[in-house]
Amino acid sequence: MNTILDLHEVSKIYKSGDRTLKVLDNISFSIETGSIVSIVGPSGSGKTTLLGLCAGLDRSTSGSVELHGTRLNGLNEDQLAAVRNQYVGFIFQNFQLLPTLTALENVMVPMELRGEKNVKQRALDLLDKVGLAERSHHYPTQLSGGEQQRVSLARAFSNQPQILFADEPTGNLDAETSEKVVKLLFDLNREAGTTLVVVTHDLELAAKTQRIIRIKGGKIVEAS
Ligand code: ADP
Repeated sequence: MNTILDLHEVSKIYKSGDRTLKVLDNISFSIETGSIVSIVGPSGSGKTTLLGLCAGLDRSTSGSVELHGTRLNGLNEDQLAAVRNQYVGFIFQNFQLLPTLTALENVMVPMELRGEKNVKQRALDLLDKVGLAERSHHYPTQLSGGEQQRVSLARAFSNQPQILFADEPTGNLDAETSEKVVKLLFDLNREAGTTLVVVTHDLELAAKTQRIIRIKGGKIVEAS
């Protein structure tokens, strides 16, 4: 399959009370399997919302989102979760680790929820891959921002996703730590062929990706 993600005339309207806010307006693009794409644009332009729709975390108001050949719009919650579990990794803004769980448990829990076996050894291997084997029993508050982000990478890699969405993966990290995180993401693309879709403010990171999709006010203003 050459196209892993296809959006056709996608719009998203948020409603609260009688107020409506059109956050995405008629967005269409396709992403090739194995490519690295960044989504850039000013704060509030709809990037996080767009990433959530692409990853099956949320639904568009109109238009269609097709991921790995499956049209997400008509799916119920369980079916959406099944698609995410099978194909999708997601790195959230600000890591979103569970504070009461150790690094190891943060990686293991989603694996257990997916019904996987031998999760402890595999979670340790994943933490080793991101250079954190020795920190596996630390809690998030005992880890630096860069270490927390690497735990969230290990968690996102745990289902060997076909496509990985990352929302500001270097947002709160210093330059040196950012470089390490970006290297891990690009290694995953090179070694496993994982498609990467990255929302970023970091223009250096965007410049390293193969394509840049620029959005403003919920519309695509430029796409390479
Ligand atoms: P970006 O990631 O580019 O900063 P977002 O997708 O986070 O943009 O937000 C786009 C707009 O949608 C903002 O005006 C934001 O306040 C609004 N928004 C985001 N999520 C919600 C929500 N769940 N309900 C209502 N409005 C939202």
